[in-house]
Amino acid sequence: MTASSPTVRDLRDAIRNVPDFPKPGIQFKDITPVLADARLFAGCIELLIDGFKPGEVDTVVGIDARGFIFAAAAAMRLNAGFVPVRKQGKLPFDTHEQSYDLEYGSNTIAIHIDAVKPGSRVLLIDDLLATGGTAEAAAILLQKVGAKILEAAFFIELADLKGRERIVHCPVRSLIVY
Ligand code: AMP
Repeated sequence: MTASSPTVRDLRDAIRNVPDFPKPGIQFKDITPVLADARLFAGCIELLIDGFKPGEVDTVVGIDARGFIFAAAAAMRLNAGFVPVRKQGKLPFDTHEQSYDLEYGSNTIAIHIDAVKPGSRVLLIDDLLATGGTAEAAAILLQKVGAKILEAAFFIELADLKGRERIVHCPVRSLIVY
């Protein structure tokens, strides 16, 4: 980090809270102001990969869709590959799938069966940890392909929802906690 690198406080100040989006009662954390600012975006990626050096991670896995933005940038920075975990029906080749419950109904995410080599050192990244259902399902998919999950890293964590308790597969780290 250089002298001009943003602090966690700078990043927090840039996140826009949008009440009642996409439905009443949800406080949506809008990260687009962070992405739109070159200094904040670069600083956010540096903080997300904190503790890892190029060569220590084989693959950065991002979760559909905002997770892709952070994970792809982190992968470039770590000289690692990027792998997407996508919503069901989006990946073209053979997949493993994992479903998880939502407040109403359920969701299914998928990964290509050959996305990572068994034993690969993986960093899992998403923009936000809420109930943890999405990240837990992604971690299960990574176990199915034989990945070694080094850490699950999130830009934002909504602590009240206790999502981190569901991620028993690896250490969990988040930059900004609400
Ligand atoms: P969950 O499975 O409950 O941990 O939800 C995590 C996923 O839902 C992440 O991929 C987020 O992008 C999205 N998400 C959940 N709650 C919010 C929120 N309040 N603001 C923005 N995104 C959210």
